[in-house]
Amino acid sequence: MKYKIFNILPEFGTNTYLVWDEISKEAMIIDPANQSRVLLEAIKGLNLKYIVNTHGHGDHIGGNGFLKENTQAQLAIHELDAPMLTDPNKNLSIHWGANLICPEADIKLKGGDFLKLGENKIKVIHTPGHSRGGICLLIDDLLFCGDTLFAESIGRTDLPGGDYTTLIRSIREKLFVLSDNITAFPGHGPATKIGYEKVSNPFAGMRVER
Ligand SMILES: [Zn+2]
Ligand SMILES: [Zn+2]
Repeated sequence: MKYKIFNILPEFGTNTYLVWDEISKEAMIIDPANQSRVLLEAIKGLNLKYIVNTHGHGDHIGGNGFLKENTQAQLAIHELDAPMLTDPNKNLSIHWGANLICPEADIKLKGGDFLKLGENKIKVIHTPGHSRGGICLLIDDLLFCGDTLFAESIGRTDLPGGDYTTLIRSIREKLFVLSDNITAFPGHGPATKIGYEKVSNPFAGMRVER
């Protein structure tokens, strides 16, 4: 699998990821943070099959409508965060005047579901705690982990639907059981390794009192 990282919403520093299969040319965009022609350029020659939101916050969904208008892609989000797509209060974008009302989800995901790009299976891991319907996507040794886990940090838990204990449990029980060599690509900031975070993450790592 190939991937590319975009920063199309600099105010929030949200990472938007394009992931594609070289053989079939099937692609997905994870967290299109904003409307951007750059993304349309990037998917030229690819078949954009999915738009996936790791969760329903406004800084991760702002490009959903634009991509839906310009491609045939299906929009996927966890069922518990699906109501956030169409409600600027729930997706919080009312707070910065974007007032995002996205198209409704085509696919409502649950933990354990799989998406497919060519012959590649993408596993959906439900990791609540930052929001109720937060998910991570595992593709081979790549983990796209939204605002659940950051390099040496974790997602906020003070927003509606957030819960600290739940988030720590999600990270420890669903992510830290994965192989050490998996690279985690967060919703904000640089990539990191599961093995490193397992030991050194100051909130959920092994050095923290359990
Ligand atoms: Zn968020
Ligand atoms: Zn975010």
